[in-house]
Amino acid sequence: MGNLKLKLLEGESIIDRWDMKKGEATLYNRSDGTQGLCIACPQCGQVATGSHIWHPETQSLTPSLVCGADGCNYHGFLTNGVFTEVNKGMASEH
Ligand SMILES: [Zn+2]
Repeated sequence: MGNLKLKLLEGESIIDRWDMKKGEATLYNRSDGTQGLCIACPQCGQVATGSHIWHPETQSLTPSLVCGADGCNYHGFLTNGVFTEVNKGMASEH
C-alpha cells in the first residue's frame, strides 16, 4: 500500500465536514495567526483537530499526527502533502 496523499478541501466549514474521507482535511485559523488542519485520520478516518500547525509552503504538518481513536494508534507525518506512517516495527528491530 502506497502512502496516502493529502486532499485539502477548501471553502468548507469544519462543522460540515465530519463526513470527510481518510486523508482529507480542511483548514482552520488558529488564534495565534497560523493555520491548522481539521483532518480525517489516514488509517481509520476519524476526524479530529489538534494543536498541529499547517505549513502551506511545504505542505507539511507539525508535530506528527497521532490518532486517538480506539484501536487505531496511527502515528505518522504529513510532509509534502503525503502521509508517512512511522514504522511500527522500528523498536523491535536490531
Ligand atoms: Zn485513526
